[in-house]
Amino acid sequence: MMENQNVPHLVLIPPPFHGHMTPMLQLATILHSKGFSITIAHTHFNSPNPSNYPNFNFLPFFDGLSDTQITSKNFIDIASTLSTNCVTPLKETLIHHMAKLEKLDEKIACIIYDGFFHFIDSLTKELKLPSIVFRTTSATNFLTYHVCAHLQTKGYLPLQDSKSLDLVPELELLRFKDLPIFGLTNPHDFLHSTSKTLSITPLAVIFNTVDGLEDSSLNDLQHLYNVNLFPIGPLHMIANEFDNISILREKDNCISWLNNKPRKSVLYVSLGSIASWEEKELTEMACGLVKSRQNFLWVIRPETVTDVSAWLESLSEDVKLGVVERGCVVKWAPQSEVLAHEAVGGFWSHCGWNSTLESLCEGVPIICQPYFGDQRVNARLLSHVWKVGLEWCNVMERNEIEKVVRRLMVNQEGEVLRKRAIELKHEIRLSLSGSSCDALDGLVKFILSLEG
Ligand code: UDP
Repeated sequence: MMENQNVPHLVLIPPPFHGHMTPMLQLATILHSKGFSITIAHTHFNSPNPSNYPNFNFLPFFDGLSDTQITSKNFIDIASTLSTNCVTPLKETLIHHMAKLEKLDEKIACIIYDGFFHFIDSLTKELKLPSIVFRTTSATNFLTYHVCAHLQTKGYLPLQDSKSLDLVPELELLRFKDLPIFGLTNPHDFLHSTSKTLSITPLAVIFNTVDGLEDSSLNDLQHLYNVNLFPIGPLHMIANEFDNISILREKDNCISWLNNKPRKSVLYVSLGSIASWEEKELTEMACGLVKSRQNFLWVIRPETVTDVSAWLESLSEDVKLGVVERGCVVKWAPQSEVLAHEAVGGFWSHCGWNSTLESLCEGVPIICQPYFGDQRVNARLLSHVWKVGLEWCNVMERNEIEKVVRRLMVNQEGEVLRKRAIELKHEIRLSLSGSSCDALDGLVKFILSLEG
């Protein structure tokens, strides 16, 4: 698209992972509506579809990923390759873009990059471009990076299993087992990578969160950082772009299946866009879900089982029949729409931050099954702080699954969580015209002040 003269130019740089790309595009949509010209600089891998965003410019840059890496879908390997391979191509792309703007007597007002790409900090300084970091995890999760570094200097590491249930001295809402570093075979790799994240010095930090949900963590971060923090969220609500900004598209229409189910009768089951189950866990899940006698909408991504139909065929006759009677299995679901559907009464989730926010916004209580990274922090917030989630043993065994599903969907315990989830939903929605709206106005003013 044509460059807009006299409009402040922003360049936003998301990593090519669904849970990062989607909120960055939502932020871009919001900032565009505030009058900024938007350019998205992105890797070739998992590139967004420009035709879904006719108002944005797109700047692809070389990522150097091999076909083997791309097909392996090894998130950690891809992430570390990108942070070395992309430095020079991104720099050249930005220089080229700056030169193009200069010819029009224009310049980049600000770069907004995902904190996951910490190498961009030195790049923007070298190019003398103002930069703001966007964080796609909770503020509390970001705070744990500081806490882990502190625990290391105080000699707490490696964390002992015997202390797993003790509260973390500097962050008492979490137990040691909730920290992203807990149980890692190589905690030093984690500390090395978080130290890079902590050493970057942007002008400001944007969080996709709500002040009322994370005020204590945001306050702690504000004490640690001498920069503006902008808690603007939930971005998917503010952007109101539920349908257009998915990298992956759902072909099966599970919404019509939901339309025929009674109110609050369906458990939505999904592990996000990266984590996956093993096949034997899937079989236990199928048995447990059927035994719970509840309706379920279940996302099984192709990375988990390539041929879902063949796997379903391999189940025993009674389980197969139960899945057909009570379940709907899809490769990908329009999640925000699903969670907003009145037939959905619960979510069995890995507690990724986007899934967490999407569920909170629709007042849907959660069975928390965190795996790694920030998911355990979010699970603790959901179950212990906001009291809308069920912590369970995470044992993928059919009887345990049957029990936890019935706890959420049938028992009084689930009803209490559901009521609390509805209350929280209203509080979050109020923040859209309150704290998040103020933070967004503050961000816009802040970016405009950089130009002067
Ligand atoms: N998602 C979706 N359909 C699916 C599974 C996931 O739309 O079938 C979306 C979900 O709405 C969320 C994102 O993928 O916005 C997953 O992000 P999250 O932070 O929850 O987890 P991650 O995938 O990063 O682990």
